[in-house]
Parts: sequence; C-alpha cells; structure tokens
Amino acid sequence: MTGFPLYNPNAIYCVRMANYGSLCPNCQKPFRTPRAKLCAECGYTLPEGTLAGPLKERDD
Ligand SMILES: [Zn+2]
Repeated sequence: MTGFPLYNPNAIYCVRMANYGSLCPNCQKPFRTPRAKLCAECGYTLPEGTLAGPLKERDD
C-alpha cells in the first residue's frame, strides 16, 4: 500500500539487536523497537499501556 520514502540500504547495517524490542510472546521474534506495541511479524498487539521494552541480552 505505501512505500517507504527514500529507502536507505545503509540503514540496515546500522541496526543492532539493541535497537530491537523484547521477543514477541506469540511468535518469539523481536519487536522492531523497544517502544513497539505491535509485532510486525505476526500482528500480535500488546495490552493497552504496554510496550515491548528492550531486548534482554543473555550474557551468561
Ligand atoms: Zn509476533
């Protein structure tokens, strides 16, 4: 339906895991951003007032 204006391929390489949100409880894919309310993968919607939050890195 709508295209992304001026798609910049360099932007992809700047994205790190730290920029993603926590894992979707439905599909286990990370939300696009910690502020996401909606899973871009499966369409899962977080409860009202809830944000994805930062992706927790396992460092053990
Ligand atoms: Zn999902």
